[in-house]
Amino acid sequence: MRIGAAWLGRTLPATRTTLPRATTTIYLEIDEERSFARTLVDAPEGGHLVWLVGSQEAITGHLLEHELAHVVLASRFGDSMPIWANEGIASRYDNQRRKIIRQQKLAGFVTMDSWPHLDRLLVGEIRQQWQYAAAVSLTDYLVERGGRTKFIQFVADSTDNIDTALAAHYGIRSLSQLQHQWQQAVREQVSGQQRPTVIATAREAAAPRYVR
Ligand SMILES: [Zn+2]
Repeated sequence: MRIGAAWLGRTLPATRTTLPRATTTIYLEIDEERSFARTLVDAPEGGHLVWLVGSQEAITGHLLEHELAHVVLASRFGDSMPIWANEGIASRYDNQRRKIIRQQKLAGFVTMDSWPHLDRLLVGEIRQQWQYAAAVSLTDYLVERGGRTKFIQFVADSTDNIDTALAAHYGIRSLSQLQHQWQQAVREQVSGQQRPTVIATAREAAAPRYVR
C-alpha cells in the first residue's frame, strides 16, 4: 500500500475478488542458507506469482518489499515496464548490504572511468550487480530531478521514443546528454561520499573511546 502511494499516487484497492488476474500468489520458503526472490507478472495461469526463499529476517527485511514493488508497478504497467526502471524502483527497498555493494560498483565506474552505455542498459536485461547499480543510480538521479510522478510518466513515455520523452519531461536533449549528466552526478556523489568517511574515520581514531 505504501509503495503504491509513493510511486503511483494511489493505494491499491483492497479486494476479496477471486478473479485470477487480480490475485498475487506468494510462495514462501524459510531457508537460512539460501536467498532467492522472483516475481512473475501476468503468469500463464493468471495473476502474479512471487517466490521468496531466505531467512525470515531477509524476507521480512527486504526481499518481500522488493518483490511487492514489482507487483505494485505491474498494476500500472502490466509486464511492459522497462526493466531498468522496474528494478531501479524495486531495488530502493533493498537492504543496506546490497546498497553498499552497488555503491562500490558506482565507485568502480568513476575510478576506472568505465561506464555502462545507457542505450544498452535501458533496453536490456538487468542481471549483474553493476547493471543494478547503474539502473538504481539512474532512477535516483531522475527522481531527484523531477520527483516520482514525473519519473513514472517519463518511463511510460520512454518506450515510444526515449529522446522525445527525455526532452518533454526533463529538458534533456538526448540519451547521450543524459549519459553525460548522469556520469557527472555519480562522480560528484562518489567523491562526496568518500571524503566524509575518511574524515569521520580519522576523527574516530583520534577521539578517546569514552566520548560519544
Ligand atoms: Zn527485482
